[in-house]
Amino acid sequence: MNKSRVIVVKCDTYEYEQVLKAVGTGFDLLGGVSAFARPGERIVMKPNVLIGTDPDRCVTTHPSVLRAVGELLKATGAEVSYGDSPSFGKAEPNLKKSGLKEAGDRLGLALADFDAGRSVSHKDALLVKRFVIANGVLDCDGLVSLPKLKTHGLVRYTGAVKNQFGCVPGILKGQSHARLPDPYDFATMLVDLNTLIKPRLYVMDGVMAMEGNGPRSGRPKRLGVLLLSTDPIALDATACRIICLDPEVVPTSRAGEKAGLGRYHSDGIEVIGEAIETVLDPDFEVNRTPPMSRSAGRFRTFLKNRTTDRPIIDRSKCTSCGTCVEMCPVRPQAVYWHRDDRSRPPRYSYGRCIRCFCCQETCPEGAILIDSPLLARLSRRI
Ligand code: SF4
Ligand code: SF4
Repeated sequence: MNKSRVIVVKCDTYEYEQVLKAVGTGFDLLGGVSAFARPGERIVMKPNVLIGTDPDRCVTTHPSVLRAVGELLKATGAEVSYGDSPSFGKAEPNLKKSGLKEAGDRLGLALADFDAGRSVSHKDALLVKRFVIANGVLDCDGLVSLPKLKTHGLVRYTGAVKNQFGCVPGILKGQSHARLPDPYDFATMLVDLNTLIKPRLYVMDGVMAMEGNGPRSGRPKRLGVLLLSTDPIALDATACRIICLDPEVVPTSRAGEKAGLGRYHSDGIEVIGEAIETVLDPDFEVNRTPPMSRSAGRFRTFLKNRTTDRPIIDRSKCTSCGTCVEMCPVRPQAVYWHRDDRSRPPRYSYGRCIRCFCCQETCPEGAILIDSPLLARLSRRI
């Protein structure tokens, strides 16, 4: 069986000409951009726009990456558009804040509709047989995914596979969290989403990654790489190896291999370009322990509060904006206003909390941290 190819190209800067050159090298190593777009085809690019934020904070895919990939795709004669459904609010204002709209405008690219979608069945799915997918994705001939390499509270790492979650419009994403509180079920849903959408190519922005309290409130960390592959599982596994995170820890790896989406074992992957050893970052701050399953019976439920990571609010940073309360997908909300007092930070009901970390992901002040109870820390040492 042929190995999955992952291209690793060094790129130390977001200076546009350098990024364009690096992306061009990546395409050449994959056989040329014409393998991914033909004249007249409608190709949509899907960057990671979790929440529109200044590109320097590394929450979103950098505009230079979108512009470089867009320029090369457009040169094939394809009709190129772009879009994403952020965690909060409509697509266009978030794309503007992240500089991606300006990058798209420079190339004269159309904005695809990611704010509304249609229901699609997925008979071959492992777990989720029906999705609502953004119109902009359903109306294109091919999708090119542009993920950002970041840490993630629920599944440890977010990259190529997770990026397609933004193809589900608006608040439906939160409902998926509420329906699938177990991180392994959630990961299987993400794999199903990828086998349904079938992006043609994944180009990962790892020039500046995010470590620590990602995917929104962590620290930018220079890795100086772009990764390209048609296999999202192999791409994510390679990115994990660069940050010295065992791919087995990331729940999408096994589910993705089981679904035939790709391969994460190193003997099934051919890394082309830079050798991983030359771009490793052993100091990258990421939780290297596997997420705990939450569907293992009543005893586990009883122990949940004592053994699983949980969100906590840093009261000194909280501005009582209420975003976390609004974004919490469970009802009644697990983060709530105590006695309806909106002048103080909200409180948590950990019994109701499903640990989806939507609150931590969307807090605009970075005031929500992930806390590991003592038993959880001890169990990791056993
Ligand atoms: S989203 Fe963050 S800043 Fe806003 S109320 Fe919640 S914890 Fe406080
Ligand atoms: S409180 Fe936060 S982690 Fe818990 S269910 Fe609500 S959004 Fe998810």
